[in-house]
Amino acid sequence: MPDTLDEIAQWIAGARRGVGFTGAGISTESGIPDFRSPGGVWTRHDPRKLTFQRYLVSEEVRKEAWQMRMELWSREHAPNAGHRALTRLEQLGCLRGVITQNIDGLHQQAGSTVVELHGTMRTIACLSCSATWPHREVMKRLEAGEEDPRCTSCGGIIKAATVSFGQSIPTHVLDHAHEWSVSSDLCLVVGSSLVVYPACDLPLLAKRAGAKVVIVNREPTPVDSIADAVVNAEAGPTLQDLLGRVEALIGAPPG
Ligand code: NAD
Repeated sequence: MPDTLDEIAQWIAGARRGVGFTGAGISTESGIPDFRSPGGVWTRHDPRKLTFQRYLVSEEVRKEAWQMRMELWSREHAPNAGHRALTRLEQLGCLRGVITQNIDGLHQQAGSTVVELHGTMRTIACLSCSATWPHREVMKRLEAGEEDPRCTSCGGIIKAATVSFGQSIPTHVLDHAHEWSVSSDLCLVVGSSLVVYPACDLPLLAKRAGAKVVIVNREPTPVDSIADAVVNAEAGPTLQDLLGRVEALIGAPPG
């Protein structure tokens, strides 16, 4: 293992157009459960059933979706060592930024440049007139007893600015992620089961374009066979360890 981490650190230190590619697993150490955690919010509210099409037509689905958001918003979540390590690797010039499937906003909070493939739960938007609100404003209305809050301007249906099942990733966002992937020299995947399409294709595109692909995840993924290195371990401590090695290699002071 130490040899592998040393080798990965050398690839990261030598990268100039690296990209981080993250999923829910990088945020579990911040207290936000991934899809698989037993008892997690997603086991009570399956977002795969709360599709966009059903959200548009069913008040019951919208109420459940808002309950799910309230559970996720009920605690303050802060970036952890993994988010911070990716930000530092960007500051050191090894990564361009992070492509994330997460909707929690923690990479931005840590200071990374981010492509949010699945949008953000920190902004709420009207589906009719495109008015937007910070999530806290809508949270107050939900706490005050509204179960299916409507747009205060036009009365339209409002929704978190996330890409739900049944919705497409905006073309300009996907183009940006593709461009970063096919021009990358390193793709550092962290905390993703790599099963959600089209996001899971991005490390493959990077590999085909000649990038080294490194996967840091608790458990194996279907993409492991094409990776140059796989580390089955916790995201935060592993990234901190790699960062320390990279800083030593390039002679940078600890960030
Ligand atoms: P996923 O839940 O399918 O997979 C997460 C992976 O991370 C799992 O393989 C798990 O073993 C691993 N993992 C969990 N904690 C880890 C840790 N501390 N260190 C290392 N590995 C860890 O998540 P996904 O691949 O991102 O796909 C699920 C979808 O769910 C995405 O579209 C995402 O938008 C959404 N989602 C987002 C959040 C969030 O914003 N924080 C949370 C849950 C789900």
